[in-house]
Amino acid sequence: MVIFKKTADLQQYITSERIAGRNIGFIPTMGALHAGHISLINTALNNKDLVVCSIFVNPTQFNDKKDYEKYPVTVNEDIGMLVEAGCDVLFLPGIEEIYPEGTDKSPVFDFGYLDTILEGAQRPGHFKGVGQVVSLLFDAVHPQNVYMGQKDYQQCMVIKKLLAITGLQDKIRLHICPTVREADGLAMSSRNRRLTEPQRMLAGCIYQCLVSIESKADTATFEVVKKECTDLLAAKGFIPEYIALANADDLTLLNNYTPAPPMVALIAVRLGEVRLIDNLVLNNTSTQA
Ligand code: AMP
Repeated sequence: MVIFKKTADLQQYITSERIAGRNIGFIPTMGALHAGHISLINTALNNKDLVVCSIFVNPTQFNDKKDYEKYPVTVNEDIGMLVEAGCDVLFLPGIEEIYPEGTDKSPVFDFGYLDTILEGAQRPGHFKGVGQVVSLLFDAVHPQNVYMGQKDYQQCMVIKKLLAITGLQDKIRLHICPTVREADGLAMSSRNRRLTEPQRMLAGCIYQCLVSIESKADTATFEVVKKECTDLLAAKGFIPEYIALANADDLTLLNNYTPAPPMVALIAVRLGEVRLIDNLVLNNTSTQA
């Protein structure tokens, strides 16, 4: 694996690979890698891309300064995992490489409704920062394919919109890859390593709630299931931020299960100092027929 810290060096390498006929597959990350990230690398490798992973903990997408300061940094372990996975290139820029003129000078995109609900509402400025950094990384990497996890469902929709706004949707294909979970259903996340052992034992409950939202689609109202989930999570010491049902195509929030569009259930909770999110696209319910 080749490691680049400078955009110019990365671009020189990528350009020669592209001339040699390779497609560039890009996986942007903030490091503290786990099997979820590696699944994205594997998907890109299966597609025969030249696989470029970036690790950059982007300060502009953290609305909570403490969360930024406590974000796990494990670069040496990350490099070991990427080498083992067969990743071709790691882009490891410093902050001045991404924001040479400061964070205020970088592009700002309007994601409209998407920025007003769920993660957008709970984390003001978060998607502005995500849009900024991903567009700057796209400029640096010029990928043909980008691989992202369904785990961050709303973020995937924001990136889809970013591609449309910037006119890149014909040049870059967004692959939304399945969420990789621990044995108890907890979605893998870099933040999981901040959970204490007792908290970790409880955290599978988030996925159980998503499954119960799915399984009760034909027998209960969403209001009732939401209340059950809220009570269950609260009893275990979680602070639920939202438990929501939405149209899976455009994230329009739904008050109840509906037969028409595919639906997605989304949850955000706090457990101690750690904030966790997860979601499940509802399948196989006759409500959806
Ligand atoms: P992050 O490092 O958290 O910014 O995540 C980098 C990429 O990995 C994003 O596209 C995430 O959606 C994706 N990702 C994070 N966790 C998982 C997971 N458990 N399964 C699949 N993809 C994931």
